[in-house]
Amino acid sequence: MLSEKDFGIISEALVKPPASRERIRELLQKAEELKGLSFLEAGELLNAGDSELLDEIFAAAGRVKEMIYGKRVVLFAPLYLSNECTNNCLYCGFRKDNRDLSRRTLSPGEAVEQARLISGMGHKRILLVCGEKPALNGISYLVKIIKEIYENADIRRINVNIAPQSTGDFKLLKEAGIGTYQLFQETYHPEKYSFYHPMGAKADYQWRITAFQRALEAGIDDYGMGVLFGLYDYRFEVMALICHAEKLERLWGVGPHTVSVPRLKKAPGATIYNTGFLISDRQLTLVTAVLRLALPYTGLILSTREPGALRDYLLKIGVSQISAGSSTAPGGYGAEESAGTQFYLEDNRTLDEVVRDICRAGYLPSFCTACYRRERTGERFMALAKGGEIKELCQPNALLTFKEFLLDFASDQTKQEGEKTVHRFLQSADVNRLKNNLLSRLNEIEKGLRDVYY
Ligand code: SAM
Ligand code: SF4
Repeated sequence: MLSEKDFGIISEALVKPPASRERIRELLQKAEELKGLSFLEAGELLNAGDSELLDEIFAAAGRVKEMIYGKRVVLFAPLYLSNECTNNCLYCGFRKDNRDLSRRTLSPGEAVEQARLISGMGHKRILLVCGEKPALNGISYLVKIIKEIYENADIRRINVNIAPQSTGDFKLLKEAGIGTYQLFQETYHPEKYSFYHPMGAKADYQWRITAFQRALEAGIDDYGMGVLFGLYDYRFEVMALICHAEKLERLWGVGPHTVSVPRLKKAPGATIYNTGFLISDRQLTLVTAVLRLALPYTGLILSTREPGALRDYLLKIGVSQISAGSSTAPGGYGAEESAGTQFYLEDNRTLDEVVRDICRAGYLPSFCTACYRRERTGERFMALAKGGEIKELCQPNALLTFKEFLLDFASDQTKQEGEKTVHRFLQSADVNRLKNNLLSRLNEIEKGLRDVYY
């Protein structure tokens, strides 16, 4: 996918002197017209060392975020199915040689139980996460679990973050009804990749970097990219990721549905943490801002790897989806202690608390899963997003699903805060077109109707 030549161009760009102030402002202007930025243009922003200019980049990203997403924040929770793995990623607690980890693979019944605990918090969207041990947690296991969760828990969209599959196995996932297929390249740097992934199927860089092509061939057109920040120079990684996204869009007509920005965390049983490439909060802010400017229509995801205050701040810069109330151990929800965790989390607020904080910060929590269920995925979704129409559906859908949350799951304190939020967002221009219908649907939800969407 990415050639020697691409890597050469990226490396060369990174040693160039920083662009002038005028040039950076020209790029910001282009980005604010929602035209996106090429990977080389993104590199120029990543290289801007001047602190005042960085603040201008953050502010521009915040405006782009607001233009496209308004104040909505989409919420989800991960569901860890298995921590059994045949790979040995040096940084991960699940790696094969970690003898101290208590290993567990959930049965379909246990997975449904975990999904119910997650939906019991108020979530409607989950991300299935799994180690890679095909004999135990391979495709037939996953397909069975997806089917059982859809049938037996009130979960409306199942996304997955699992190892790369063959086209045939991706077809099975598509048939099972997954939303987004998410996969992180970890690092785009081939030699570093080999160092961190010394054995197992994951040692094959090419198999991983071509995964989205096979997923797209299989008909999965919502794909989610990411890099594990902290394994190599973050500027190289962001440029390579955007270059990858450009190539996929050119070949398949559809860019990434989401990009995640996980940072390397300390993990019990990992052999490496201090890689020499760990990134600061300010660098993560720059990464978020540049991705928002370069890929304006792509959802940006931040997990509970990050502390609450930083997560709240990055919503202003470009993040549009966050996980909340998470556990990264199979069977971790509802358990007294979560043995077998993948890495340590830094935001341990409950979903109810996160929702309340989102409202207090002036945002609108959303549990919407409508696009996927109305088949607004891939190219169709992007066309609506680029035409600006999607906002007129997203805001009303956010309000409908948030109202359900308030009635069914919120504490009294959150309910109070949330009702003020609903009232405020009902006045916004984005709901004008559907206002009358929306008001009557909200009324019906008050009376007990559920799962209403546009
Ligand atoms: N096993 C599959 C894989 O590696 O692609 C999918 C699941 S894996 C549990 C999900 C992601 O966790 C990995 O892609 C990696 O980026 C992330 N991860 C692993 N160790 C981590 C750590 N110490 N800190 C933060 N994220 C980590
Ligand atoms: Fe296994 Fe994924 Fe962890 Fe690597 S990152 S050890 S493949 S679970």
